[in-house]
Amino acid sequence: MKQHKLRIVPLGGLGEVGKNMMAYEYGENILVVDAGLMFPENDMLGIDYIIPDFQYLLDNRRKIRGLIITHGHEDHTGAARHILEEINVPVYATPLTRGLLEVKLARGGMLSRINLNTVHAGDIVEIGPFKVELFHVCHSVPDSVGLGITTPAGLIVHTGDYKFDHTPVDNWPTDYAKLAEFSGRGVLALLADSTNSTRQGWTPSERVIDPAFDQVFREAKGRIIVASFASLISRMQQVANTAQRHKRKMAFAGASMVENAKIARKLGYLDIPEEVLLPIDQALKIDPSEVVLMCTGTQGEPTSIMGRLSTGANRQFDLIKDDTVILSSHPIPGNEESINRTINRLFRRGANVIYEAIAPVHVSGHASQEEMKLLLNMLRPKFFIPIHGELRHLRQHAALAQQVGIPAERIAVIENGTIIEVSQEAMRIVERIPGGYIFVDGGSVGELGESLVREREILAKDGFVLVNLALDHTTGRLREEPEVITRGFVHAKDNDDIMMEIRRIVIDGVKANNNGRLTQELEQVLKSFLFNRTRRRPMVFIKLIEV
Ligand SMILES: [Zn+2]
Ligand SMILES: [Zn+2]
Repeated sequence: MKQHKLRIVPLGGLGEVGKNMMAYEYGENILVVDAGLMFPENDMLGIDYIIPDFQYLLDNRRKIRGLIITHGHEDHTGAARHILEEINVPVYATPLTRGLLEVKLARGGMLSRINLNTVHAGDIVEIGPFKVELFHVCHSVPDSVGLGITTPAGLIVHTGDYKFDHTPVDNWPTDYAKLAEFSGRGVLALLADSTNSTRQGWTPSERVIDPAFDQVFREAKGRIIVASFASLISRMQQVANTAQRHKRKMAFAGASMVENAKIARKLGYLDIPEEVLLPIDQALKIDPSEVVLMCTGTQGEPTSIMGRLSTGANRQFDLIKDDTVILSSHPIPGNEESINRTINRLFRRGANVIYEAIAPVHVSGHASQEEMKLLLNMLRPKFFIPIHGELRHLRQHAALAQQVGIPAERIAVIENGTIIEVSQEAMRIVERIPGGYIFVDGGSVGELGESLVREREILAKDGFVLVNLALDHTTGRLREEPEVITRGFVHAKDNDDIMMEIRRIVIDGVKANNNGRLTQELEQVLKSFLFNRTRRRPMVFIKLIEV
């Protein structure tokens, strides 16, 4: 067999937090690890989510032997549907990860078409020339795994998201023995989670949340509403346990929460007794002091249940007197502002809000610095590539690796699209491919260019002005007075003069027009007029009807 070098192709999650996806390529074979999404920052309006640019996979589709998913979080599973729509390859996942993925595939109507394979921590799976050993890791969703990938070039360890929690909610710690065994065999390259590389010390155990929850449950006079991610199954378990200790019933609100909880219970990863769990409509009828609701919306997303509760726009239920809201999460970088706005609104609407900054109602599922050093020391890899994180996280992780004795020339800090080649002798950057974004907007993939995102930004900030223009198709003269509509720009009522002037500009423009470019020219003239008058730049639309 001809000796090839192993190519490591980062398609997502390097240089950003979210949309994790990595391809390992050896000769004519590619193994893809994870296919995640990223939620847009608040300045990308109307975008549901972002997935990795997977053109590289499309170009090399015949080489792809499989997709393996490390755990059930959306930043590892959320793009799978879109990629599998284009490239139907076998998918490998542990039972809970598979269950959570199936919920997504079923929504896309493609569950029956996909070749899904259940694998377990401890299993060895042969995928093309890759021998993949799955090892259990602790994280904030059960059934998470890291991967030991034996390639013809050597052993690669890919951690996925992990932490070293000695007392995890599901009592299943990270598989240290397997890590030690890998070390004994010699690790060619380690690719490890960098999300928390700027946090000193150790990430606290999930258990530290319990006393904080207990205190909130003890003191709450009315209803408790806990917001978290729909895929944070461990947190659901903790809320359920606390509910039982304090004799409260529990209900999930929102489709993704309800579906994920259902599948996790069915598969035995979420233990909530039948008598504790109520459907939401029943939970809303019982005494508020006897119930806890769980919903999504910890990141200030306006369309989530918590977002809608904060503005009074939730249909099924509203905030009531004595509600206590717990935001059990950590802000994703970039979301801080919208989260704080949501917290302020919730307070304003009468809720008592408990969040990470004022009580330990959340712990991270990711390793901190001391855990990262422990992992590096345990595995002693020849080469090290930090993954999962913004450039600053990756850099800091690289610095930690140097502290524990890995020479700088054996560490590669790279971002999406930079391909690395590894052999026993050397690691080097070989190629750059596009590592950008694909926007997903209500199910349509990639149709939104950056220009449309920018337009939506303007709309949100400065609103728009729409002029309805009815012209006589024979004379080109106005049939009636032009109609001016504005939204989000200025109040038409208080700005009679501006409205009058807009109408005058339009009437003059119609009279003077003789070149067939009426709408374009009017738009330009109105834009500069409006900017000069108001220092704002609303979008201007001319709707021309010829009758
Ligand atoms: Zn995760
Ligand atoms: Zn992740």
